[in-house]
Amino acid sequence: MVNPVMSGATKALIFSQKCNFLISAASVDQFPETKLPEIAFAGRSNVGKSSLINALTNRKNLARTSNTPGRTQQINFFELKPYLMLVDLPGYGYARARKSVVDEWTELVRVYIKGRAQLQRVCLLVDSRHGLKKSDTDTMDILDSAGVNYQLVLTKSDKLKKGQLKLTIEEALNKISKRPAAHPEIVPTSSVKFEGIVLLRSCLKSLL
Ligand code: GDP
Repeated sequence: MVNPVMSGATKALIFSQKCNFLISAASVDQFPETKLPEIAFAGRSNVGKSSLINALTNRKNLARTSNTPGRTQQINFFELKPYLMLVDLPGYGYARARKSVVDEWTELVRVYIKGRAQLQRVCLLVDSRHGLKKSDTDTMDILDSAGVNYQLVLTKSDKLKKGQLKLTIEEALNKISKRPAAHPEIVPTSSVKFEGIVLLRSCLKSLL
């Protein structure tokens, strides 16, 4: 990695930096040519990905929250200059999207995942209420076979009682236990109540 080693004090400030939208890439040639380490965010449409990116970066409308599942078709790059790039991958698993479009997203995401040398981790977002769906395990298969480190992040934890949340975490831990590229810590988050955000930031900072 081209970036110099960061001091603890510098790392502590990463998510306080101003985060800027850089580009929405619809094809590989539009991927930015920076060498910043990248953390990508993936998950089913409507999982709460935009809300989580906004919470992590202390912004209200950086990643546009949308009630129209499947609307984001491109890979969005956000720069926490000069330290880190956050990458919003297109949501998947939205049944009403035309199949050809779904295939196209998958191909773009596959190329990104397999070929992006600076990609440090994919945060795979899963709705706490629904747990892992087939489209999530399909994504995990892609990440495992590409050898890309990923971490499960549960969203909307405020919608569950503590006991239910614990069960969901245990179930998910069971499912990732034999997966080679899965990070063993699962982080429950609520963007609405700002819970788990500080913990997730510190997991991500530890990668740098
Ligand atoms: P995206 O499609 O994955 O980017 O999802 P959004 O961030 O647009 O969120 C989808 C819906 O879930 C919106 O109605 C959000 O208000 C809601 N949402 C997102 N995060 C949370 C959360 O932590 N708690 C609750 N209760 N709702 C959330």
